[in-house]
Amino acid sequence: MSKFDLPYNQQVAQDKKTIYKNARIIDPQSSYDKIADLLTIGDKISDFGQNSIGSETPSNCEIIDCKGNVLSPGLIDIQVHFRDPGQTHKEDLSSGSMSAVAGGVTAVVCQPNTAPTIDSVLTLDYLRLKAREVAYCNVFAYACITKNMKGEELTDMHALRNAGAVGFTDDGLPVMNANVMRRAFEYSRNLDVVIAQHAEDLNLSNKGCINEGRVSLELGVRGIPNISESVIVERDLAILEAIGGRYHLLHASTREALDAIKRAKDKGLKVTAEASPHHFLLTDEQVLQSGTNAKMNPPLRSEKDREALIEGLRTGLIDAIATDHAPHDLASKNKPLEEATFGIVGVETMLPLSLKLYHDGILSLKDLLAKMTCNAAQIINFDGGVIKKGARADLTLIDLNHDWTINCQNFYSKSKNSPFEGWKVKGRATMTIVGGKRVFEL
Ligand SMILES: [Zn+2]
Repeated sequence: MSKFDLPYNQQVAQDKKTIYKNARIIDPQSSYDKIADLLTIGDKISDFGQNSIGSETPSNCEIIDCKGNVLSPGLIDIQVHFRDPGQTHKEDLSSGSMSAVAGGVTAVVCQPNTAPTIDSVLTLDYLRLKAREVAYCNVFAYACITKNMKGEELTDMHALRNAGAVGFTDDGLPVMNANVMRRAFEYSRNLDVVIAQHAEDLNLSNKGCINEGRVSLELGVRGIPNISESVIVERDLAILEAIGGRYHLLHASTREALDAIKRAKDKGLKVTAEASPHHFLLTDEQVLQSGTNAKMNPPLRSEKDREALIEGLRTGLIDAIATDHAPHDLASKNKPLEEATFGIVGVETMLPLSLKLYHDGILSLKDLLAKMTCNAAQIINFDGGVIKKGARADLTLIDLNHDWTINCQNFYSKSKNSPFEGWKVKGRATMTIVGGKRVFEL
């Protein structure tokens, strides 16, 4: 078969049966972890377990031997920028979702900072319907908190939620106006949807381009201080405590922000946080080596912050791993540090980079996969990210010990901007199944 197959244009026949044999099936939500078989019929998981399927092999059934591989619920990346509409020379729903399934990701959440922004049901419908035609994975979307992300007037959150928005954010920009944020939390509370914040005080950031620290001083460029993030997180949590609702911190980067999240969680507030592989694996020293390919927002921070993120992942303070996949063409990056665009690609490397936490003994495989499956799903009210009878057959087959080297030129994404070029990694997705259909095979 070809490496990619369209799940929606050519949905799997409802009577198509496939048995995945001898896989180490891990379902983080139920803590199931056994060598077993799994049967899919059509787009659903029909059954799984030891000896429950093999003894009575259904006729007309395809059998795939998964010996030596882990079968996980399909991975979910709750923060990607697929640039459609508006900047499809950087990425589009086809190339972005191809990049996703090549990385073992079966569902993504697109951020609404497109052109035009996803601040109306019309744009949300465009994205949803186009994804159904061309995407290789499930595509969800946040809608904007404010109209055209200007931070002033709320969108019609009720209508957008009913049209399928899985949460709200002005990602790329923070909501700077505290009163607007207060109103957004009122809707969050009443609609049970999450408000996801790109936490950055623009006045404190003061047009900085990398982390404020030794490296910014050495390079003579303006830096973004840690308090730029934590001031907004502290403010948002104070509003959340007063109003109610649900808050999600996008791409946490500082120890101070994590401290605030911890205090809020201890109080019982409905708070979640995600971290991106680049923030927990790299520091601002990487800018000296990778230049603008190590420029993103929030920026790579200090070693102390990186260690705090690792500790947050280990203890469960950080609920999810998401990549902030932000494709940019060469021309946008091939500029002086101050002028280049923020962002790096990531959806294709989320799994191998995150597996480092498992190989280094920081997280169990179950706890690591939870951050890219069931935990991520819960944040966006998605009933996926699990292996159970009757669930949608979104699955990722993983070879934990596959040694390989990241080569950006091989990315399926239209963009190649990554500081992980040349990294030696261990483990990768060998097969990606969306709605019962194999959409990628290594
Ligand atoms: Zn952001």
